[in-house]
Amino acid sequence: MKTAKCPKCDADITLADDCEVGEIISCDECSAELEVKQLEPEVILDDAPEVQEDWGE
Ligand SMILES: [Zn+2]
Repeated sequence: MKTAKCPKCDADITLADDCEVGEIISCDECSAELEVKQLEPEVILDDAPEVQEDWGE
C-alpha cells in the first residue's frame, strides 16, 4: 500500500494499489484534487489542473 502527503494540508493520503500516474485523487482532509505525478521511487502528488465543468450552453 502506498501513501503520500497532501501538498496542500500535509495529511497522509492512502493510494489504491492499482493507482496509476495521471490519476486524480482527492484529499480526505482538505478535498483538494490531486494528480498522481509519479509513483516510484516515491509518490508525488500535485495540484490537479482545474477542470472546467462547462458542459456547453
Ligand atoms: Zn489535503
